Amino acid sequence: MFQVLSSERIPHEVPREFLIERLQRVLTREAILYETEDTRPYECDGLSAYRSTPWLVVLPETVEQVRAVLRTCHELGVPVVARGAGTGLSGGALPLDNGVLLSLAKFNRILEIDPLARTARVQPGVRNLAISEASAPHGLYYAPDPSSQIACSIGGNVAENSGGVHCLKYGLTVHNIAQLKVVTMDGELLTIGASGLDAPGYDLLALLTGSEGMLAVIVEITVKLLAQPERAQVVMAAFDDVVRAGEAVGRIIAAGIIPAGLEMMDNPAIRAAEAFVHADYPVEAAAILLCELDGTNEEVSEQIMQVRRLLEECGVSEIRTARDDEERARFWQGRKAAFPAVGRLSPDYYCMDGTIPRKRLPEVLKRINELSEEYGLAVANVFHAGDGNLHPLILYDANHEGELERAEAFGGRILELCVAVGGTITGEHGVGVEKINQMCVQFAEGQLEQFHAIKAAFDPRGLLNPGKAVPTLHRCAEFGAMHVHHGELSHPELERF
Ligand SMILES: Cc1cc2nc3c(=O)[nH]c(=O)nc-3n(C[C@H](O)[C@H](O)[C@H](O)COP(=O)(O)OP(=O)(O)OC[C@H]3O[C@@H](n4cnc5c(N)ncnc54)[C@H](O)[C@@H]3O)c2cc1C
Repeated sequence: MFQVLSSERIPHEVPREFLIERLQRVLTREAILYETEDTRPYECDGLSAYRSTPWLVVLPETVEQVRAVLRTCHELGVPVVARGAGTGLSGGALPLDNGVLLSLAKFNRILEIDPLARTARVQPGVRNLAISEASAPHGLYYAPDPSSQIACSIGGNVAENSGGVHCLKYGLTVHNIAQLKVVTMDGELLTIGASGLDAPGYDLLALLTGSEGMLAVIVEITVKLLAQPERAQVVMAAFDDVVRAGEAVGRIIAAGIIPAGLEMMDNPAIRAAEAFVHADYPVEAAAILLCELDGTNEEVSEQIMQVRRLLEECGVSEIRTARDDEERARFWQGRKAAFPAVGRLSPDYYCMDGTIPRKRLPEVLKRINELSEEYGLAVANVFHAGDGNLHPLILYDANHEGELERAEAFGGRILELCVAVGGTITGEHGVGVEKINQMCVQFAEGQLEQFHAIKAAFDPRGLLNPGKAVPTLHRCAEFGAMHVHHGELSHPELERF
C-alpha cells in the first residue's frame, strides 16, 4: 500500500483554522470544505484502494481565486493537489492529510468554439465528451476519447496525457491541444503554446501535458477540433485463440492501414460486457477485435475489404461489419462499458496500464495468463491493441486477507514485464502513486534527477502534488531498484532495507 515517505512529505505547522481564515479573504465560505462529511467524497480517485481524507478542500470559480489560493499556500508552505473529476486510475488526485485539495469542478464552461480555426477554448473542469457535443453542430469533434469521457475533465486529460480508442490514428491529448493557461505554485499565470502550428522556445506545452498536476494548475485549454469523417464503420472479428487475435493486430498495421480504433477484449471481458449492455458479442470467442475505419466512402469500403482479407489470413472465426450507426454504437458501447462490466465479476478489480511494442502482444498476453495462475487471481483483458496499450483487469476481493497485496504484486510484475519487452509502465493512466516504484525500474537515476530538476524549476519548494509520479532516490533505494554499475553502489549514503 502506498505511503508518502517522510522524505516526500512536506511538513508544515500551519493550523487549519488559520489557513481557512486566510482563504476566506479570497473565497466564499461555501467554497471551503473541512468537515469530514464534506471532504470524504474527495478521499480517492478511480483507484479506490488508496484513500486519504483531505485536510481541506477548496472550490475556486475564477482564475484570480486559483492564483490567490496557490499564492497563499506557497507563502505558508502548504502542499496542494489539483483535482478534476477524480476518475484517474493511478491515484494522481489522492489528497494529502496536511494539504489542500484544489477542485477545478466549477471551471465547467466552454468559452469559445472557433469553427474557422477548428479550435475550442475551454475551462479545465469541462467534461471530455461535452467538447464533442458542443462542436457537433459545426461538423467538428475532439478526437481523444477516453472510455471515461462522459465523466472525466479535459484538465485531467491534459494532466494525464490521456488516450482513447481514436488515439491510434489521431494522437493522444498532447497532439490535440494548442495552448494552455496555467498557474504556477507561486500564483503566476502563464500562457503556454500558441494558436498557430508552432511556438517559439522550448516545448513547454508537451512538458506540461502528462505532468500529473506536479508543475502547475491548468486553468484554460485550447483544444484542436477535427472534421467529422464522411463515414465510419466498425468491423468486429472473433477469434478462437487470443494469440491469433494479437497477431492480426500487427498484420493490420503492417499492411499500412491505420484504423480509427483497434481494440481487443478477451473472453472474460466479452462475457462481462455482453451481460452488462447486450452488445451482441459472440460470448464463446476467446477474443474479439473491434476495428474502426473512417474517411471517405471509397476509402472506408476499400479498407474494410483489406481488413477482412487480413483477418481471414489470421484465422478469424467470425467477422461482422456493423450494418448501421446503431449497430456500430452498440459494438462500441460494449467496449466502453467493459470496465464497469468487469466490476460485476468480482467485488474488486485492479486496472493495470502498460504499453508494449505491438509485435510482442501475443507473448505478453500468454505470460500474463501464466502470472494469473501463479498469483491465483483471474484477469480480464480489455485494451487499445493498436497502440500496444494493455489494460489487464486483475480480479480480487479486498475482504479476503492478502488478496489486495497479491493483486498489487501481480500488477507490479505485469509492469516490469512491459519494461522487459521494451515497453513502458504507463500508456495513459499516468504514474500517480500507483506506479511510483516501477518508475525506479523504468528510469535510471540520472533521468530521475533530470525530472526532479524540471520539477524544481517550476515548483522549487515541491508543494504541488508531492509524493506522486517521480520517485525520490530514497524510494528507489528502498524499493531495491537503484542501479549498480560495475559493482559500485550509487548513493551509498541512502538507507537500504
Ligand atoms: C471507467 C474508466 C475508464 C477509463 N478509461 C480511460 C481511457 O480510455 N483512457 C485514459 O487515458 N484514461 C482512462 N481513464 C482514466 C481517467 O479517466 C483519465 O486519467 C482522466 O484523464 C482523468 O481525468 P479527471 O478529470 O478525472 O482527473 P483526476 O482524476 O481528477 O486527476 C488526474 C490527475 O490530473 C491532475 N489534474 C486534474 N486536473 C488538473 C488541472 N486542472 N491542473 C493540473 N492538474 C490537474 C490531478 O492532480 C491528478 O494528478 C479511465 C477511468 C475510468 C474510471
